[in-house]
Amino acid sequence: MRCAVVADIHANLAAFTAVLEDIERRGGVDEVWCLGDVVGYGPDPHSCIELLRGFNHLCVAGNHDWAAIGRLSTSDFNPYAAAACRWTGQQLSPDDVAYLDRLPLVTHKGDFTLVHGSPREPIWEYLLSPGSAGENFAFFSSPFCLVGHSHVPLVFEYSQTGICSVSEFLDGRVLELGENRMIINPGGVGQPRDGDPRASYAIYDSEARLVSHYRVPYDIGATQAKMVDYGLPMPLVNRLSYGI
Ligand code: ZN
Repeated sequence: MRCAVVADIHANLAAFTAVLEDIERRGGVDEVWCLGDVVGYGPDPHSCIELLRGFNHLCVAGNHDWAAIGRLSTSDFNPYAAAACRWTGQQLSPDDVAYLDRLPLVTHKGDFTLVHGSPREPIWEYLLSPGSAGENFAFFSSPFCLVGHSHVPLVFEYSQTGICSVSEFLDGRVLELGENRMIINPGGVGQPRDGDPRASYAIYDSEARLVSHYRVPYDIGATQAKMVDYGLPMPLVNRLSYGI
């Protein structure tokens, strides 16, 4: 089975569409696994939910997904994120709201646990250092865990001797799944934050036991033009150009 692993689409339809086209060029997938934050920040929340739901897919809840439907407070959000969240809530259909409300915090498939932030704090914790990632291996039991939330493509590997190391999940890298447990972040589709503005995602091949990482250029200007039209905060518009 082949699965696309996507995270942090953030209502960026141009980026999500470019990723889906790239997946088709690479032979397609049987399932799409989404690590949360389908909405928030970007201009097309309804269309992104609708597009995702058209696939045989799994999805977990992200903080923006639940904030947009009022299930989480935005008091921890910066003012731009909070403003975008209020706008997002107004764009959702009742069916979109019901869909986001039904998303689980954690889901399991085969050798994988899927969460948005971390196994320890599924919706809030950012895994960016080997220290915090290392502690999280005690909070899931499958060999591998997929996370999003930081929008930074990283691989945390836990050695047999209990040492956690981190490496970048660079474009074109093919990760072999072996004995060591791993926490893998495919990076963000709709708002990358590692200094590369291209959309970021991965494909997992269960037979080959490989996870391959890809970057995809998309029409950033198209997303930005819609955001300006809708009056979304300019810092959120501008950051897409830089991948920050
Ligand atoms: Zn996010």
